[in-house]
Order: sequence, then C-alpha cells, then structure tokens
Amino acid sequence: MNIENKQYDVIVIGGGPAGLSAALYASRANLSTLLVDKGVTGGQVATTFWIENYPGFPDGVGGPELIASMEAQAKRFGTEIAVIHEVLDLDANQSPLRLSTTEGNFLAKTLIIASGAEPGVGKGKLNIPGEDTLRGRGVSYCATCDGAFFRDLDVAVIGGGDSAIEEAIFLTKFAKSVTVVHRRQELRAAKVLQERAFNNEKIKFKLGRVPVEIKGETKVEGLVVEDVNSKASETLDVKGVFIFVGVQPNSGFLKDNLDLDAQGYILTDERMRTSIPGVFAAGDIRQKQLRQVVTAVSDGAIAAVEAERFIEGLN
Ligand code: NAP
Repeated sequence: MNIENKQYDVIVIGGGPAGLSAALYASRANLSTLLVDKGVTGGQVATTFWIENYPGFPDGVGGPELIASMEAQAKRFGTEIAVIHEVLDLDANQSPLRLSTTEGNFLAKTLIIASGAEPGVGKGKLNIPGEDTLRGRGVSYCATCDGAFFRDLDVAVIGGGDSAIEEAIFLTKFAKSVTVVHRRQELRAAKVLQERAFNNEKIKFKLGRVPVEIKGETKVEGLVVEDVNSKASETLDVKGVFIFVGVQPNSGFLKDNLDLDAQGYILTDERMRTSIPGVFAAGDIRQKQLRQVVTAVSDGAIAAVEAERFIEGLN
C-alpha cells in the first residue's frame, strides 16, 4: 500500500488503547482514518500480562488479547494501520497538516496524538552505575517480556507504584524470590495490589531504600541499596533487576509545536483539544490524573468525535 502523501481525514499516532479507540470512533463515523505505530500495536498494554480493571471482563483479560480485539474492531470499520519507524516532525502551519516520518509524509485534516509513555527511558530510568551496561543482561523494564529468563532465580523490583507491584506479583510465577525496593515506607500502588503482594510468600520488601549500583561485569550479580535515613548500604544477591520507576511521555517528536507541561505531557482541554486547532491528544500522553486503559479509551472516543466536529467546521 503506497500511502505517502495520501490525505486522510484523521491520522492517529499510536496504537495503544487510546489510539485504537480513536481510530474505531473515527472510522465508524466514516472518516478516512490512518493509524501509525512504531511496531506491534498495543503500547504498554501489549506487555501487560493480565488486566483486571477493564470493565466487561469479570475474570480479567490478557493485554495482548485485549489489544488484538481493539485492533480488529477498528479495522472492521475501515481503519488503515501503517508501521512507521519514527515520526520526525509535525507541520501544523498548513492545511492539511503534514506529518513527516521516516517512511515519508502523510497529510491529514486532523491529527490525534496517542503516542503514550514508555518505561526504560527518561524518567523511567534510575541513572545509576550498571543500569545501562547491564540492560538486557539482567536489567529489564518489562517483566512480561523477560520474566521467564529468571526461573528459580532471585530478582529485585524497583519502585512502589502499580507497575512495580503488579510486575513483582507476575514475576513470582518464575522467580525464586522477588525483593521490592522502594524509597518510601508506603507503597503508591492500589491497595488491592499491595495486599496481594504482602500476602505473597515469595515477595520480600526493602522499604526506605534506594538503589545505588547494579553490580556485575557481563550479567547482573547484585544490587546495592542504601537506607535513606542511615545511609547504610547492603548488596542484595539478585540476578535480575526490574525497574518500574515511572514512564516518559513519547512527545519528543513534537519539538516546540504544541503546549506541553514541564514533564513533556500534552496539555488539552476536556474535549482533548491541544494548543493547535485540529490536533487532539488522547491517553497517557496527556497531562491528566488517572492513567488507565479505561480512561485512555474514553479519551480516544472524545478526540475522534471532536475531530469529526472540526472537519464538519472546515466543510
Ligand atoms: P508511578 O505510579 O509513577 O510509580 C513510580 C514509582 O517509582 C513510585 O513508587 C516512585 O516512588 C518510584 N520512583 C520514582 N523515581 C524513582 C527513583 N529515582 N528511585 C527510586 N524510586 C523511584 O509509575 P508506574 O507504576 O509505572 O505507573 C504509571 C501510571 O500507569 C500510573 O498512573 C499507574 O496508576 C498506571 N498503571 C496502572 C496499572 C493498573 O491499574 N493495574 C498498572 C500499571 C500502571 P514514590 O512513590 O516515592 O514517588
């Protein structure tokens, strides 16, 4: 399919729940819709083993399975999906808008940015010795991807948020023990996850500790943690270090085009409108309070309906 310079009513950037929901609503409104994504659709959900808080699935649903259903639903109404290596620039000073990518230029009347956020870059890194050199050699940012390599081994999980605790519980399927290292005495994760982790015999906690170094030459051989009060340090004998200390919004390609907050999240109003007319944002890339699949799909639907209204205004 040669889509270079082809014009669409709506281009959606990002194939996570927000982008797929936006694409579904836009296609179903008979708008020509192209969704571009870097690779496999799904964003962070694609690497989430099990989702328990998305309504309609009383027993939970696998992340990849949920995404495959969302993608099939959007395609059924006509969404085209293109894999692009990278979005390079957005020229919003012209109508139609022009999106430059490594695969060429795409034109659209409206744009919905649903590029999400990812672990393991920017704010999602610890920036301590050993983190970069041992990445892929025991240091990981994805338990679903790498957990099985740590069968019967001791591992550490860094962080106290939903991701850290959810992934720590997941890792107990494989690991001999999982030590959660968190900088405060209280976890940030949802209470239901906390309870499950506290009741899991394989999970141990090192609270009030920060990681200061990951040891090892060619693979992880230990994790040095420091007590935040006494500054005393100890080395945990672990072969894996899973880091879940937050995520970095994928907004670098926007450069100075759109209004972002200090952390790089896109500012929108409640109609998902950004600082540029015709450009909308949805999902984790937005500055917002609650980042969940259910809020992402809601954002996507609102953005698509607003895109439709914007196009009606153009006509
Ligand atoms: P998060 O909620 O921002 O949690 C990051 C954790 O890492 C916090 O506990 C934080 O400590 C700690 N941390 C941050 N920087 C650190 C550093 N330099 N050194 C040591 N620890 C550090 O990130 P997340 O867990 O990845 O979640 C991201 C978003 O996705 C959240 O909105 C979350 O609710 C959502 N999410 C939801 C689910 C679910 O509903 N099942 C699952 C996954 C993610 P402090 O607590 O002290 O700040």
